Amino acid sequence: MNGKSKHHIPHILKFKTDRIAKEWESEKIPQKLRDTVILGAFYSFTYFKKPLVLTGIYRTPQEQYDIYKDNPAFIESPWKSNHQVWRAIDLRSRIYTPDEIRRLMEVFNSIPYRDGKKKTAVYHKVGDNSFHFHIQV
Ligand SMILES: [Zn+2]
Repeated sequence: MNGKSKHHIPHILKFKTDRIAKEWESEKIPQKLRDTVILGAFYSFTYFKKPLVLTGIYRTPQEQYDIYKDNPAFIESPWKSNHQVWRAIDLRSRIYTPDEIRRLMEVFNSIPYRDGKKKTAVYHKVGDNSFHFHIQV
């Protein structure tokens, strides 16, 4: 980053790509999502001495299609991801032990998701991606 960043917290937050670093600066990200990720970043750094790594924010319709194109349910009736409306952020999980993953999930899910019918944090894989944290608001 070039020093003009408003939201970056050096050492505690890292970005997989320049695109993601740039997207993190977007005012389209809801404050609650930003706060949830920052909470996780401070927790990760405080207890595990590891920065939180953001691996995905915004997703285009084409990228959504590419992820799910081999899923018959998606082809039958495509759904929209929270990533397409700036309401989800993916985080790297392979840097954590299973116990650290469990603790981070507890921290993220201490924050309720809207009406409570879904979870704020999901630990999953989609398409050809590896396991990661999906944080949504
Ligand atoms: Zn996700």
